[in-house]
Amino acid sequence: MANEQRAAAHAAGGGLDRRDFLRGAMAAAVAGTGAALSSHARAQAQPEGARTPGREFLISGGHVLSMDRNVGDLPEGDVHVRDGTIVAVGRKLSAPGVQVIDARGMIVMPGFVDAHSHLWNAFLRGSVRGDDPLRGYFPTTNRAAPLCTPDDAFHSVRFGLMQELLSGVTCLNNFSHNTRSVAHADAEIRAALDVGARTRFSYGTPGRGERLDLAGVKATLAKWGRADPRLRLGVNLQLPTPAVLKAGGSDETFVGEVRASKELGLPISLHYGDTAHGLVGLMDRSNLLGPDILMIHTQGFTAAERELMVKKQVQFSMSPAIEIPYSTVRNGYIQFAELEALGASLSLSVDASSALATGDFFTVMRALLWAHKQRADVDRKLEPRRIVEIATLGGAKVLGMDDIIGSLSAGKQADIILVRKRDINMAPVIDPYYSLVYSGMPANVDTVMVGGRVLLQGGRHATLDVQEVADLAARAGSKMHERLEGIISNSKENLGDLNRKG
Ligand SMILES: [Zn+2]
Repeated sequence: MANEQRAAAHAAGGGLDRRDFLRGAMAAAVAGTGAALSSHARAQAQPEGARTPGREFLISGGHVLSMDRNVGDLPEGDVHVRDGTIVAVGRKLSAPGVQVIDARGMIVMPGFVDAHSHLWNAFLRGSVRGDDPLRGYFPTTNRAAPLCTPDDAFHSVRFGLMQELLSGVTCLNNFSHNTRSVAHADAEIRAALDVGARTRFSYGTPGRGERLDLAGVKATLAKWGRADPRLRLGVNLQLPTPAVLKAGGSDETFVGEVRASKELGLPISLHYGDTAHGLVGLMDRSNLLGPDILMIHTQGFTAAERELMVKKQVQFSMSPAIEIPYSTVRNGYIQFAELEALGASLSLSVDASSALATGDFFTVMRALLWAHKQRADVDRKLEPRRIVEIATLGGAKVLGMDDIIGSLSAGKQADIILVRKRDINMAPVIDPYYSLVYSGMPANVDTVMVGGRVLLQGGRHATLDVQEVADLAARAGSKMHERLEGIISNSKENLGDLNRKG
């Protein structure tokens, strides 16, 4: 139903009243206790149009975690939204005549922000195996990358983003390191807009080891730069070779790409890792470090590098659910404690849902907790509230969006999620932060809205069939899997080469 129609129906007394909302909430709560029920099954159980609000509504009576120090937490609070913007957050707000979303029994909070995810390969889940070196993440994605069509990219991005939306992610930095053409970039952007989340599309290289197509970046900027308020653009870059970095040299191509991106006003996402030692020094010598640099994987820095980057206001992202199994042995502990002590700007990210085998942001929060608690050499105290803050406001800050999202504050965009407290894995909720971090799972996410537009309710998407999104991606993924298996059986590939990290 269009907004105007809904408003007219409401004015005529045909709108959804508080009892309707409550019935919807109860149905969703009951359905949500059965984690075995697929989101599609839950979606089908919900009546068409139930609880879908229009341009102005009040989220009423929920446990509001504003993540805004000036607003605080409200165990029975309201959030008033008009035209996509939060108008007020408080107790027993007066908003006569507006639609009401009954949030009793729910946590009301800002959506999670995923600061780095490689959505182009989400559809390779199943093909990427953690238990088989021949089919590990890098061999599989390196083989698949040149075979991916824009159509594959489209289905993979919708699939990966939808999963994250279902776990409460409302904003995501899509680190596309397989931007093979402008058509691939278009496909990834269209897919993200189709799902409706707020995203940054970080234009990458046409393949691992290749350089940035600056003409393609400019064409994409011209086409999409101002196309939609939910979309921002950035880049991600290939690093100089380990030999250059180790020798303390420079790399004119890399430095040129960073400078060109800065001139275009595009923020830059970079992977750190065991092949990147020396990068911080190289960037500092060329005066490239700054708040527009997002350094991903906080492992292997020296104390001097950490201090320098924090001083230069570099942004950081940790992907603990990937870093624990994939890179801690190689790169050392996640340096959360050290960066936190310096007051660094920190965020969380899924990284690759194909390798992680899940796009669950609750798992990512928990993984940070586990990684931190594993350490014997630091103060292991870590408040759940701080983890939730990093997962929301922290993510908004590293993406340069904390002026518009990241907290429930008057004037910010209504990127809000509702999480059920009564579900069997959550109840009883005494401290909501503790429950979110220690017990939460995507099945508890009842409602997701971006810019005041309700995208998900009880697993049902506003415009897309979640099951169809999954089926189309699975079909493309299965076809790709057959081709990859054919390559493995017919080739004498150098496994060592395929395992290199781009
Ligand atoms: Zn990554």
